Amino acid sequence: MFPQRLTEGYRAFLDERFPREKNRFEALAEKGQSPEVMVIGCCDSRVSPEVIFDVGPGELFVVRNIANLVPVYQPDGGAHGVSAALEFAVQVLKVKHIVVLGHAQCGGIRAFVDKIEPLTPGDFIGKWMQMFIKPGEVVEQRDHETMAQFVERIEKAAVFRSLENLMTFPFVQKAVDSGQMQTHGAYFGVAEGSLFVLDKAAKEFKSVRNAA
Ligand SMILES: [Zn+2]
Repeated sequence: MFPQRLTEGYRAFLDERFPREKNRFEALAEKGQSPEVMVIGCCDSRVSPEVIFDVGPGELFVVRNIANLVPVYQPDGGAHGVSAALEFAVQVLKVKHIVVLGHAQCGGIRAFVDKIEPLTPGDFIGKWMQMFIKPGEVVEQRDHETMAQFVERIEKAAVFRSLENLMTFPFVQKAVDSGQMQTHGAYFGVAEGSLFVLDKAAKEFKSVRNAA
């Protein structure tokens, strides 16, 4: 049976939100989408970009995966979901911004740092998370770090790595170089609803809660 929660939610959408935004949906259907922002986020049910950024239909082009990872450019004939979404966003939609959105309490990162089962060779998550590390790279808890600090550092490092990997895509590099597009990192704190945006020059995430 189709989940009742969804049927009810859909009916509420049809009664309330849809009539309010009907013109927008019609225009989007007629003219097509032209979002200016792509968000690469985590699958985590607590971190929905449309909710966090309070946006409507047609505003965000979103790809979500375990731990908001971007692979390196690998035109090897394989099927690459994130890369296909990136190609569409940059080449066809010509988005002006790509935001990599990391978050606190990320299960994918936690699984990665804990090396927990069932991340056996036959499973998908272990293999997926491997794209986060470079060959020979060692990711370890530092002496002075608590487990929570370690996990947060790696959650943020995943955003840095994804931003780095983005630039391995020639069309991303080209769009950034020509000034048509910018890439950004952000980190969402689930409990407080806090948002930190990466200051690339300072290599630090800074709160934007009270910024102008
Ligand atoms: Zn996550």
